[in-house]
Amino acid sequence: MRGRGSFRQDRRTIRGRPIRLYRVASGVLPYVPPDSPGEAATNTPPSIQPIASGKLFRVVSPPEQATATPQLAQHLSQALEQFAQANGFTEEKPLAISFGRGTLGLHRSNRAVDIYAVDGKGIGVWAQEWNEAVRRAAAAPNPQERESIVAEQKQRNLGYKLYKALQARGGWAQPPGYPVQLFGPWTRGEGPHKRISDRMLRAHRDHIHVAK
Ligand SMILES: [Zn+2]
Repeated sequence: MRGRGSFRQDRRTIRGRPIRLYRVASGVLPYVPPDSPGEAATNTPPSIQPIASGKLFRVVSPPEQATATPQLAQHLSQALEQFAQANGFTEEKPLAISFGRGTLGLHRSNRAVDIYAVDGKGIGVWAQEWNEAVRRAAAAPNPQERESIVAEQKQRNLGYKLYKALQARGGWAQPPGYPVQLFGPWTRGEGPHKRISDRMLRAHRDHIHVAK
């Protein structure tokens, strides 16, 4: 007699739809965007939401690239709004921001986001421009010229400026035994965690990571 549960299933079904069972080596499940309200309720607590555009900044990456707790979303939105205002962006011409999805550490609990582009330019490109200016300044024939190269770069480099604005704002997570959760290409030079390892610095050469 063949009773209930006596045969093996290699696929489970949800409301009659087969779903594949994933096995991921790292133990991190791939993000699956909810495609129905019922599934959203089972996959994600309702308080976790994509970071929305503000008045003066627009999120141009897909919503699933930056899902955050309400605390992180609010803190970062205020920081971005203020940064956009300080740098002359308007409702008609808002600041474009792109996120990319991280998988490790506080990303797992939606307490961290990664910013990959500011005003249409990648953080990695902003960082290269910064490094080139620092090299030019180092090779400048006199201190006045050196200062003016650095000052000009501090004025125009929106990647650097966003990093400094996030640092100045503060309030980022610092889990016990770990450094403040603000990392990017400028961390070694500007802090807060100036002793960042080569490996960590390399991992953040093209984005800014913040967590709350
Ligand atoms: Zn990250």
